[in-house]
Amino acid sequence: MKSLSLLGSTGSIGKNVLDVVRRFPEQFRIAGLAAGSNVELLAEQALEFRPPCLSLAQTGLSDALAARFPASYRPEILSGPEGSCTVATLPEADMLISAIVGSAGLLPTLAAIRAGKDIGLANKETLVMAGQLVMAEASRHGVRLLPIDSEHSAVFQALEAGQREDVDRIILTASGGPFRTWTREALAQASPEQALAHPNWSMGRKISIDSASLMNKGLEVIEARWLFDQPPERIQVLVHPQSIVHSLVEYKDGSVVAQLGIPDMRIPIAYALSYPSRLELALPQLNLSRCGTLSFEEPDWQRFPALRLAYAALEMGGTKAAVLNAANEVAVDAFLGGRIGFARMTEVVEQTLDRTLQADALDLEAILAADAEARHQAESIICSA
Ligand code: NAD
Ligand code: MG
Repeated sequence: MKSLSLLGSTGSIGKNVLDVVRRFPEQFRIAGLAAGSNVELLAEQALEFRPPCLSLAQTGLSDALAARFPASYRPEILSGPEGSCTVATLPEADMLISAIVGSAGLLPTLAAIRAGKDIGLANKETLVMAGQLVMAEASRHGVRLLPIDSEHSAVFQALEAGQREDVDRIILTASGGPFRTWTREALAQASPEQALAHPNWSMGRKISIDSASLMNKGLEVIEARWLFDQPPERIQVLVHPQSIVHSLVEYKDGSVVAQLGIPDMRIPIAYALSYPSRLELALPQLNLSRCGTLSFEEPDWQRFPALRLAYAALEMGGTKAAVLNAANEVAVDAFLGGRIGFARMTEVVEQTLDRTLQADALDLEAILAADAEARHQAESIICSA
């Protein structure tokens, strides 16, 4: 029986994690759940899985949550960022599933690594902000980082087929998002509703916008750089609109190993939960003859400059990827709030990268300071336009 802490339980990934856990009650138990502010759904989840510890990031909601439980179930209820960290490091948990969205995922994930927990990592922002530091801490504490991001799960699986020193390149696939075929002029006018309508995956709002701008793929390049310890020039992106081939690894003898599957996040989630064994998920089988054509094309760096910015941030090094991430979070919020247009998001990120200094990427304080400074700069760039 594996005991899990789950951060971000009320989100798209969190709900899928609980769906996997629900199917295998003899294999997994929930030690703690943490969410942002959705009292109703957290209460429903807690009543089903009965974890002894809960947390809500938003303060002032604990009483409302407690009021939903019968006398027979009295979990500890925490709040704020410390609450997420406590859930992430519960002594009875064997593993943390990190599925908060955004930079709020970094500190609890790092705390869990330092407490010796294996990590199922959905929160890619953790590695974008602090990849070098997080990987060093993971190795120091002997913990496993098991990717939940579908592309990284695919690469992780393809890497089982060979030796690390024989890898020639990693190819991350990208669906291309809802605007794959849009002109630059049309992109400039794209609305939040259009950007949120992803063709293949149903996801949270922030990652849906990132997928439309291809910033998500940029963040994933940075995630892969640290997770698999490969230099950026060995990581490439290929647009594959059907989202069936989840990513590929090419070895030096020319063999290319890919992982395929229907687009369902429960597959990479289950692999992270049960690695190295596999769970019988009983999902619809992949039917390749019914898929018809699988197509591939180069990404358009002109229409989707976010990809170029992510490589540039890696090239600049230090805390620049943390700056990219923070500026992007501010820009996505501003776009969703109707304050800036779609194309303006990457301009804000680019200008923020230009305006911020960089510091040592192994220093947590410096990373958090770079994040704060980037948010401030991005806000002022947005306001000054
Ligand atoms: P989501 O918006 O659906 O859910 C986010 C969850 O985090 C919610 O439970 C929310 O309550 C919680 N949360 C938000 N802010 C918080 C805070 N400050 N403290 C504690 N909890 C907080 O997002 P999602 O789509 O599930 O994505 C979660 C993470 O997984 C992201 O980093 C995303 O990039 C990554 N990811 C998602 C998918 C997907 O298919 N949805 C695929 C790959 C990777
Ligand atoms: Mg992904």
